[in-house]
Amino acid sequence: MDAIAVINAGSSSIKFAVYDTRSKLLQRMLAGSIRDLGASPRFIANNGAGDVLETKAWEEGASLSHEDAMAFLLETLPALMQGHRVCAVGHRVVHGGERYTSPVRVDADILRELETLIPLAPLHQPHNLALIRTLLETEPGLPQIACFDTAFHHTMSPVERAFALPRDITEHGVRRYGFHGLSYEYIASVMVLRDPALSARVVVLHLGNGASMCAMQGGSSVATTMGFTALDGLPMGTRCGSLDPGVVLYLMAELQMNDRQIQELLYHRSGLLGVSGISSDMRTLEASDAPGAKEAIDLFVHSIKRHLGALAATLGGLDGIVFTAGIGENSALVRERVCRDAAWLGIELDDAANRTGASRITTASSAVSAWIIPTDEEAVIAKHTQRMITDT
Ligand code: AMP
Repeated sequence: MDAIAVINAGSSSIKFAVYDTRSKLLQRMLAGSIRDLGASPRFIANNGAGDVLETKAWEEGASLSHEDAMAFLLETLPALMQGHRVCAVGHRVVHGGERYTSPVRVDADILRELETLIPLAPLHQPHNLALIRTLLETEPGLPQIACFDTAFHHTMSPVERAFALPRDITEHGVRRYGFHGLSYEYIASVMVLRDPALSARVVVLHLGNGASMCAMQGGSSVATTMGFTALDGLPMGTRCGSLDPGVVLYLMAELQMNDRQIQELLYHRSGLLGVSGISSDMRTLEASDAPGAKEAIDLFVHSIKRHLGALAATLGGLDGIVFTAGIGENSALVRERVCRDAAWLGIELDDAANRTGASRITTASSAVSAWIIPTDEEAVIAKHTQRMITDT
């Protein structure tokens, strides 16, 4: 029993990684995913060096439930693990609510409690928990550690957490939680190795299918753009981002939409997809000449500009920004536009460094530095899991 498995279940994918626990520094020996569960799923597994070990593509139009996908992984992965056996599983769980501000070993009672948070993260939480339930049933003795995306933000001040609502509502836990915390925790742990100045006032931009920004001071969360749910803040692949709550009232009262229809609209049909009418995928939008694609990118970048100003204000100034996740790590266009908009904050882009995807993308004389740092949520989960099983 010398390996830790990490499961990161998204709305339409399951990412996994397996780490060898025999060395003090956890060594990744296997990683991969099953993507596009809803339509023509694809499986890939790589070894620690990134070489492809196995792939599988289901036929056109086929679909897999998260449980089916998990059963496939349980059947397939042992043969790729060169005799290693899993001693614990770490899971990304999106919402830990008010109570869970650090990782926890999940039993049946805790699982039931976490299930009450499903309405707060309907896109992710049910899938995160379904996989934990499957494993609790099939491998009851195997420690399973839940690591929460909300936990990193527990350092936010009461005023940052609060909505201006009456107490009888806020007492139900209606407050800002923030998400993408495992990604932010990883970035916080490595950014000071790039530049010690990043231990001061930094805004990290996690720009992927889900997108948010986090203001950090001394590596701790001070403010973030996501709120009670992962809908708030920036427009995302298919999620709307910040919205006047009056729009929801209008949808209900005038367009007779019910809660299910509004949920579907705001989580699945809005954001880059809704505005462009073409795609939720930034690569497709960047390659398109259609006016809708340009409008969607303009809105995304504009929203980042507004939030960056607000987050810099909460920090009382800015020493650096960090781009991460699919768009942040790969889109030179989005990075360039964000940095140009932020020139007033003291950011001076180094065009060549940005185009080649260098680590630091600002000039040597730039008052505020900008960086690209690839995120690694799985590494954070593996470390927490190892600590939890060694401490208990
Ligand atoms: P993630 O959720 O972190 O996997 O990020 C997914 C997003 O990253 C999608 O919108 C992709 O289109 C975007 N992305 C990935 N690679 C690139 C690229 N080379 N250029 C622009 N966007 C990219």
